[in-house]
Amino acid sequence: MVEEVAAVDAYAARVSAVVLEIEPDGLVLDRTVFYPRGGGQPGDTGFIRWDGGELVVTDTVRRNGRPVHVYADDPPSVGSEVEAEIDWERRYLLMRTHTALHSLSAIIWRDFDAKVTGGNMEPGAARMDFELEGISIEFGQQVEDKLNEELAVDHPVEILFLPRDEALADPDLIRTKVNLLPDFIDPIRIVHIVGLDKQADGGTHVASTSEVGTVRVVKTESKGKANKRIRIELT
Ligand SMILES: [Zn+2]
Repeated sequence: MVEEVAAVDAYAARVSAVVLEIEPDGLVLDRTVFYPRGGGQPGDTGFIRWDGGELVVTDTVRRNGRPVHVYADDPPSVGSEVEAEIDWERRYLLMRTHTALHSLSAIIWRDFDAKVTGGNMEPGAARMDFELEGISIEFGQQVEDKLNEELAVDHPVEILFLPRDEALADPDLIRTKVNLLPDFIDPIRIVHIVGLDKQADGGTHVASTSEVGTVRVVKTESKGKANKRIRIELT
């Protein structure tokens, strides 16, 4: 089992580890702070350093259930002790962006009864699609105002690990299709923005919505009937 620090502590930027396995394009560590891409959040980038060497990690992906640190340099040998360090500035921006997206989806659900149909993010910018019949510039402005109002409220963000049975019985979580998660996932990791949103999620988030700062709705567009897209940027 690889110890995945990001799942419990998103603020850990660096960790000591041992190289478990070398793959043609990446390596597996026994412990890591790198987040493997998933749930719309890109994989972390950063560095792995060891006695006499260093490599640049250009992406992190999940393969056979384990985070693989993707690189293009010469790797250390299996069994080497290393320091793994993420590009913290990029990751922190992703944490702020991810929490902004969950807040956005919560507001659209709470005030407009519309579910999310898809989404994606890059550091500082994101898009999310909703089951909305119509959309307009005025609607985008209204959403932006509501979002910034909620972010400023300073809602704490908690990470919970709920037994599967308990998660499946929670009405807030059923809305986000927690029942569609594969059976073997137990307990289920939950990101709870207290007073605003609760959903099963593997990503990294800030500890409070106030850390997101303010957000701008930069574009609203129709992607078909009952599918409308909102693009946001962190300011
Ligand atoms: Zn998420």
